[in-house]
Amino acid sequence: MSMPPRLFVSVDLLEGHAFSLEEGQAHYLTRVMRLRTGDHARLFNGRHGEWLSTLEVTGKAVSVRPTRQSRRQPDSTGTLELLFAPLKKTRTDFAIEKATELGATHIRPVITTRTQTQRIKVERLQSIVQEAAEQTERMDLPKVYDLATLETALATWDPTSPLIYCDEAGDDPRAPWGGEGGRAPSIAELLYTLKSRKGGVLIGPEGGFTEDERAVLKSLDFVHAVSLGPRILRAETAIVSALTIWQSVLGDWR
Ligand code: SAH
Repeated sequence: MSMPPRLFVSVDLLEGHAFSLEEGQAHYLTRVMRLRTGDHARLFNGRHGEWLSTLEVTGKAVSVRPTRQSRRQPDSTGTLELLFAPLKKTRTDFAIEKATELGATHIRPVITTRTQTQRIKVERLQSIVQEAAEQTERMDLPKVYDLATLETALATWDPTSPLIYCDEAGDDPRAPWGGEGGRAPSIAELLYTLKSRKGGVLIGPEGGFTEDERAVLKSLDFVHAVSLGPRILRAETAIVSALTIWQSVLGDWR
């Protein structure tokens, strides 16, 4: 038997306290999943664990009653922020869906000099992360911030939290691939030197970071430049790679 569908709700989840689902979720359960009165859904809200809940369908309306806690709310195991320059079209959607599956706790779109997409729709990104969190069986949602400049993100960054800056270039902008000078250490080597359970990764836009941005980043004590190997990765590939290595070395994949 397949597991009951899993939905994020914002309301409190208390045993026996029934409530009505929003229209979109009611439609999904009755029209798409074809559930009826007496069927079940698994509900989570990021605070009260996951609850097996019984449906009562009345026309288009669906009332759900939490009956049994199927999973307790885990303690938070740390913080993993993704700072990334919004990408063109579906690449941003792909990037934040993967970031959600990989356990990012905060998603911060940042405008850099070469960012090509100057606008994002936060509500749209929030619905993508919600759907990804439901599918990936997370017990919480990553927080999606509104667009900010890289300067603002750096100025408001908690300096006790390491920011892993994925630097695709060396220091010599005239040499191919920035030359051998100033190449950053490999990300895994760098992460093994940290003991932090909180941190962030920063990935640039399709056009990369400017020399000025690189200089500012490398001047900040909490920023650690790293290489993601000898090939230029698309930003969305870099996002998946950096988050994966973080989870493997310092995060919840250990
Ligand atoms: N400037 C590059 C493209 C940047 S790729 C070019 O010349 O085409 C987009 C972002 O992915 C970069 O800003 C960087 O953050 C990350 N990235 C891609 N490949 C990387 C690598 N090999 N090492 C470190 N970061 C990388």
